[in-house]
Amino acid sequence: MTQKRTIVVKIGSALLANQELLTPRYGFLQRLLEDIAQLRAEGTSVILCSSGSVALGLRIIGETPQSAGVSDKQAAAACGMPLLLNAYKQVGHEFGFEIAQVLLTLGDFEDHRRFLNTRNTVHRLLESNVVPIVNENDTITTEEIRVGDNDRLAAKVAQMVGADDFVILTGVDGLYDRNPDDPEARFVPEVEDVGLYMDATKGKSTLGTGGMETKLLAANMAQEAGVTTWIAQGEADRPVSNVLNGMRRSTKILPHPNPLSGWDSWIANRLQMAGSIVIADATASALGGDRPIRRSDVISMTGDFTRGDVLHIYDSKGIERARGLSDFTSEELRVLIGNPDTQAEQLLGYRTKGEVIRSANLVMLDNRHLLWDAPDEIASTEEPRSAAG
Ligand code: GLU
Repeated sequence: MTQKRTIVVKIGSALLANQELLTPRYGFLQRLLEDIAQLRAEGTSVILCSSGSVALGLRIIGETPQSAGVSDKQAAAACGMPLLLNAYKQVGHEFGFEIAQVLLTLGDFEDHRRFLNTRNTVHRLLESNVVPIVNENDTITTEEIRVGDNDRLAAKVAQMVGADDFVILTGVDGLYDRNPDDPEARFVPEVEDVGLYMDATKGKSTLGTGGMETKLLAANMAQEAGVTTWIAQGEADRPVSNVLNGMRRSTKILPHPNPLSGWDSWIANRLQMAGSIVIADATASALGGDRPIRRSDVISMTGDFTRGDVLHIYDSKGIERARGLSDFTSEELRVLIGNPDTQAEQLLGYRTKGEVIRSANLVMLDNRHLLWDAPDEIASTEEPRSAAG
């Protein structure tokens, strides 16, 4: 059986909420959901990742986007989420489909069991022809446990369900090679290496959380998982299908020609970095087959981590070469590398082969353009960057 085409559509706050009144923009929702109904009729499964709960809830708690602090936004999200969902439900019914609310936090992606659980639920909804409306559970998330912006949240959903396309609907028609207000700015219709545009896209939107930078980070995650990303203006008739069929201007970010498997992509795309290790350049170059990273390979380490956390692996030039799941806690690894001549069993009190990261749990980053903030300790001395091909 061939799988149905699956698309994830991310909708920004400014499209959903009137900037001054902070009320739902029904006209926009009608255009969007009419298009979604049409896509569904053509056999496409659709998942929406919608912002707007904070913007819609602000009025209820007497705040504005400018005045609201973190706890105000958390309270606003609690007030706005039912308004947002109600608007989707009403308009969805007009076009003959049911919607469901899926509120996620970072842990639902980072913990593999919760990840699988979430994926099953989303697939189950799609099986029943229900359109999942995904948002971050802002009311209960704090800085440390947030994905932080819906661009990346949506990319993680696209990766999780193995989507074919990921459409980011926003207030601009796509990516420019510099600030679009600059008369010299040129539109970029297609991108292979998003890293080339990161510097040109700093800055944020007023109502939502992201800007073009977070959109490119999101597109980067999607492309690694083999998903095609489209960034387009949302104010249009048939806002999604006219992008997918090339009728409307948009920026297309190509999928990696050699996408990561589901497991590798889960390892490589974790947002929370638990720690890092440095290994010799020659060791890094020898990885990629069956060779694990052994305790004797580790030159230095940073971070507090537990077994199963993702480590970022740098070579001595500070280039990130791989990511992988640690088989030891940070305390254990510190003891192991601090006492290289003592048997691991003697140091830890249990039998172990001393493999820090097994080859099956290791993802090589050579020839990939993964974007990631380097840990401070390494960044301050070595200026690391992701390996580029
Ligand atoms: N989760 C936020 C909301 O519902 C939006 C975050 C974002 O736009 O990136 O308002």
